Parts: sequence; C-alpha cells; structure tokens
Amino acid sequence: MKVTFPHMGNTYICVKALLDDLNVDYIIPPYNNKKALEIGTRHAPELACLPLKINIGNFMEAYEKGADTILMAGGRGPCRFGYYGEMHNEILRDLGLDIEVINLEVPNSGYREFLKRVRRITGTVNIYKISKAILNATRVSVEADNLEKLCCRVRPREIKKGEVDRIFKDFMNGIGRVKGSKQILKHIGDTRRKLLNVRIDEKYEPLRVGIVGEIFTSIDWYANFNLEKKLGEMGVEADRAITTSGFIIEHMIKNVLHIPKDLRYAKAAEPFLRTAIGGHAQETIGNMVLYAENGYDGVIQIYPLTCMPEIVAESIIPAVQKKYNIPVLTLIIDEMTGESGYQTRLEAFVDLLNRRKELSKAEKRWAFSGN
Ligand code: SF4
Repeated sequence: MKVTFPHMGNTYICVKALLDDLNVDYIIPPYNNKKALEIGTRHAPELACLPLKINIGNFMEAYEKGADTILMAGGRGPCRFGYYGEMHNEILRDLGLDIEVINLEVPNSGYREFLKRVRRITGTVNIYKISKAILNATRVSVEADNLEKLCCRVRPREIKKGEVDRIFKDFMNGIGRVKGSKQILKHIGDTRRKLLNVRIDEKYEPLRVGIVGEIFTSIDWYANFNLEKKLGEMGVEADRAITTSGFIIEHMIKNVLHIPKDLRYAKAAEPFLRTAIGGHAQETIGNMVLYAENGYDGVIQIYPLTCMPEIVAESIIPAVQKKYNIPVLTLIIDEMTGESGYQTRLEAFVDLLNRRKELSKAEKRWAFSGN
C-alpha cells in the first residue's frame, strides 16, 4: 500500500511525521500548482468548491507516482466537506483510476470502523503506538504553525528584505531530507532560531491585519497567492485565525475524545451568528469580532467561490463592521482569479488602512494639543 493525501499549506509536514513514525509508505503529491488545479477543474463539477478541485489534481499527480490509497478527513458536517471523500471516490472511479479513499474521521458507525481503517493503513491496532504517533504529529503541527506565525511577525520588520522568505524556503526544502517527528521538530527548532536572528527594525509599528475565512484558502499558500507573504512585503503583520493545528486539535482530537472545545470565537459571534452553520462561518464572524476588540487595523475574509458558509458569513459582516468600525476586505478565489487583480485589491486595502491610521494619529495629536 502506498498512501497519499491532499495538500493544504503546511499540513503535509505533520502528516509526513505521522506516517514516518508509523512506518507507512507514502507519496507526497507535488505542492499545489497550476497543473493540479487544471486537472481538478477538468474533472470536478463546475460549481464544486475550489479545494475539492485542487485535491483531485493532488490525487491524480500522486497516482502517477504510484499512490494507491488516499487519506482524507471529512465525512461529517453540514457543508459540502461532509461528502468530499465520497465525491473524490466517485470522480476517481469514473476516471478509471484504481485508487481508494480512506476517511480518517470517526464515522457515525463508531470507533470499531475507525480502528479497522487505521489497521488497514498502519498494519497495527497498537493503541499506544498510534496515540504516540498522533501526539507527536500534533506537536509537529503546532510548531509548524508557530513557525509561520513567527515569519508573519518578522517579515514586515526585517531590515534586509527577503531574509525571512529565504529561511522559510530552506526550511521547506529541508523537510524532504528529514524523517520522523523527532527530526522534523529539530528542523523546525533550527529554523526558528534562524528567524529569531534576523535583524529587524525594532521601532517599526506595522499595520495589523487578521485573516479569517474558509480553512483551505486561508491556509494554503497556492490557493491564497501567498497572502501572508504579500502582506508582509507591504509592511503588514498578518495573523491567521484558522490553522492546521487548530483544526487537528479542536475539530479532530477533541471531537474524538469528547473534550470541551475552545469556543471563544463562538461567544464573540453570538450577537451575530448563534449557530454553527458548517465550514468556518461562525469562526469567521467570531474571530473578526475578536480581532476588532484586540485593536487590529483591518480584517481580510477569504473563501472559494460557491462556499456556502462563507457566503452567509459575508452577508453578516456589515453588521460587525457597523458595530466595531473595522475595515474588512473580502477575497473570493476560483480557478479564474488572476494574481495581478488580487494584488491590486490588497494594495488598495493596505493604502486605506494606512490612511486611517495616519488620520487617527493626527486626530489624537489635534485633541492633545487642545485645538
Ligand atoms: S467550507 Fe466551503 S469550500 Fe470548504 S467544503 Fe464547505 S462549502 Fe466547500
């Protein structure tokens, strides 16, 4: 058995750690790219969500390299993610590919079915071994996310432009050369030290922008045209509310173990959206409120065209803006989105935030001088 899995930003790093630790043979598909999107667009229904299309491209590229089994999350939820696994299965079967999709969420039929699936992939039901591997992979995921957060903090302040990107590129290239959670964690730690040594302008106070929205387009560098990097290059410190480790811990692990979740976002969203309507809509609204309360200069909502939960969230945003007076830019991505138009919209938004900040400083100076 040679397993593969879809790409979503840094997710492959923790999946690699998990599969390495469990001695499972795997193929990582090429990073998300134009070819994968084109393949997916050709074979998926036109109005399917963009992540599903890119996933199809990932699987077909991995199949060409010898993968015969796909690991997927999903299988639950009021939005289309609930039937992603089945759709992948059907599309690939219709194309005549001899590849099977195994869903790794606990199904409604219970743990027995889940353990059966785990045994098929790992060849073991040794709970200790599996739990240890999951724990270590989760640590990898947390540290990989922290590394990206650090990049977002350092990038707008770096003195020598491009230093953070060079270090992060080395980190990505190095991932293929390390094996298992222990080596991966060491590689992350080494990169972290390099980032902390980047010379920065300590006095610079960047604009702070929160990123909310659908998980795939928020996290995946290809799908969002490297949003965090672009903002950093414009001198903006970005913070992303949705992370891979957050999804693993809150959505997968806590669900399975029935541990209470971190619902700060739900409380913040309550006056605007009281129910979870699928996807990350409630997180989008709740985190937007939290960003506004924490003094962020603006928020960017990003989602794939036809994503129902985010369309609902977008319709609520004017009420949040009215109450908190915070500028919000919504970016909708599909296979036709062009990078230059996207860049122009981002630059215009950042210009607006800069002007607001200058105006607010001038008003404070004016009030202070007693005029
Ligand atoms: S959250 Fe949106 S993009 Fe993701 S599966 Fe659901 S509908 Fe599709």
